[in-house]
This record gives sequence, structure tokens and C-alpha cells, in this order.
Amino acid sequence: MTFSTQSTRGNYPEHYYPNTEELGENEMRIVALGTGRPFLRRSQANASWLIELGNGDKFVFDYGFGSQMNFTALEIPYGDVKAWFATHLHTDHVGDFAQVWVGSWAGGRLKPLEMYGPSGPEEKYGFKHFAEKQKEAYVWDTDTRVGALPAIGAEINIHEFDYSKVHVVYDHNGVKITSFPAVHLFDGPVSLKLEWNGLTFVYSGDTTPSQFFIDNAKGADVVVHETFNTIEQLMERSGYDERTARAIGTHIHSAPEEAAVVLDAVDPRMAVIFHFFNDFDTAPEMEAKVREHYQGPLTMSTDFMVINITKEDIITRMARFSDHVWPNKSKHEGFGKAERKPMMQLSDWLKEAALFPKTQFIRKK
Ligand SMILES: [Zn+2]
Ligand SMILES: [Zn+2]
Repeated sequence: MTFSTQSTRGNYPEHYYPNTEELGENEMRIVALGTGRPFLRRSQANASWLIELGNGDKFVFDYGFGSQMNFTALEIPYGDVKAWFATHLHTDHVGDFAQVWVGSWAGGRLKPLEMYGPSGPEEKYGFKHFAEKQKEAYVWDTDTRVGALPAIGAEINIHEFDYSKVHVVYDHNGVKITSFPAVHLFDGPVSLKLEWNGLTFVYSGDTTPSQFFIDNAKGADVVVHETFNTIEQLMERSGYDERTARAIGTHIHSAPEEAAVVLDAVDPRMAVIFHFFNDFDTAPEMEAKVREHYQGPLTMSTDFMVINITKEDIITRMARFSDHVWPNKSKHEGFGKAERKPMMQLSDWLKEAALFPKTQFIRKK
């Protein structure tokens, strides 16, 4: 285990087992679904964070490649997620778009998917353009599924919001989500702040250290800030030359000692860093860099790290789960009765080649 924390596990079991713990009505639970870099590896998927609230609402911030496999492992009914948010349109933050869409549809969602994301300096750089082009690219997929699965599951409500403002972009059921600009390569990326029931969670997405982040995250309960591996690690382990390592590790992203300056100014109850390869032999150097400027509570995240937050406690643990879970089926009532669209029809020459032609789907007794 390569995270450090100043909290204890308190009254919680040492590990979090999905479907075995009720969330308290005043409690927030954060699960790291993806904490790695823009390469997929088994231990760390691309960026994604699940936020669960005591009022039953659930949100996902970013859905990078591989992260949805981890979502499924938590056995959460897909329909329970109120909205999916993208911080920006790098593949390591939105690469699982199609899996979010079709996986949740086939997995039991009986309402349109609610997806939020930032605009860009031009229409083609905005979330709406991205989402519509994804839908268009998968038209064969959608048109062939709507006859077999509830047609409503194909629908996506695309909510694009202004990337350049500090403003509330979601306000329902006591949950307020604020977007503010992130400083990352080009106009468009944002960071997100979720406030509910006196608890505040802030997620940087990708950003180099910025005043926007300090101003908007100050005093939050839990702050997840990105940091890449150290320059030395990027050179030694990723084989980057120094110029590339510095461009990626500090100009585009936050080096650990730079993120530390931000965390020190923000002073959260728990600081979490992510977006680096977290191994037993990289973590100590990463932590040492952070400790140059930040002495507060720190969690160095990896996938399936779970944080329970109440007014009194912040508890960090790891989840335990099966590698063989099926999608949660507890809220599939109505799946069978929901409206379908007409099936697409195969050409006769293909139909005739089927050995066991199907004319109906219900087996006769
Ligand atoms: Zn990025
Ligand atoms: Zn990223």
C-alpha cells in the first residue's frame, strides 16, 4: 500500500466492500476510479472520481480510459448516477465516453444520460461538439441496439457550460457544483467544486498551479489536486529527455513541489494527489517533494482508494471487490417493459444464412 494518511479508520471496517455499507445521511464518500497517467496500466486507470452523497445522489467527475471497469466493480446501479462531468477533452479524462453511455444503457439505465462539460474558445473545442461527434461516430452501435434495449437509454442530455467563468453549473437537491478555469495547455479545461450539506469537495482535473484553484478551493474539506511524477522519475522511468519531462511535468501539469504550494495555500482537511504512477519506489520521492511546501494531511491516491467524509472525520481506506462482478441489477424493474424501437433488418441473404432463424424472443413452454 502506497498511500499515507493522518486519519485513522475510526469505526469503519479496514476495507470498503461495495454494497455492504450504508452511507450516513450527512456523509460524503469519494472513490478513486482512475488515478494514473495517460497510459493504461492494470493498477491505475485514467482519471475518474466518484462522489456519493448521503442524500442518495452520485456524480462522476471525468471518465478516462479504463475507469468504467472500476465503476462496475463497485456494483452501483447505473441509474443512480445523477450526472457525469468532464473537466476537459483529453482522452485520459473522457476516453470512456462510449462505455459510460453504452455500458450504463445495457447495464440498466432507464433514463437519458446527463453529461456536463466545458465549452472551448471555438465551438469545435467544446464538450457539445465532442459529445455529438461521439454519438455520430457510433450510429451503427446505437441504431442496432435501440430495437433490443430500452430506446430511452440511447438518449444523452448534453449540458455544455462556459469554461471561462467561475459559476454554478449544477444546482439540484441541495447539491451545488461550481466550475472554474484550469490552466492547462489551451483554453477550455476547468476544475470542479461540489458543495453539499456543509461539505466541500474540489477536483482540479488537469492544471498547472493557479490562483483560480487557490481562490476557489480554499478551506475545502477534501481537495484532489493533480501532480505528475517528479522530473527525475519522468526522465528515468518514462525515458523522456529533460525538455520533454519539464514541459509535461511542470508547464502542462503540476510538479509535486508545485502542487504542494497550492495545497499549503488551500489548507484542506485532507489533500489528495493523483495523476502520477504511484509505486512503492516512486511514492517516497513524491511525498518528499510535497513535504517541501505542505505539511498538512495528505493522501497519495491510487485506484479504489475510498474516502469517507463527515463533519467529524475523514477516513481513507482501500476498497475490496471481485474481478468478476456483473452490473448491478437491483433497479432493473421496467427494463423489460420499456419501449423499444423497431429492430434493424438484415438483408435477406444474410437472414437466410442463419441456422436458427428467430421470429420471437420468448421461448414457448
Ligand atoms: Zn489534460
Ligand atoms: Zn490528464
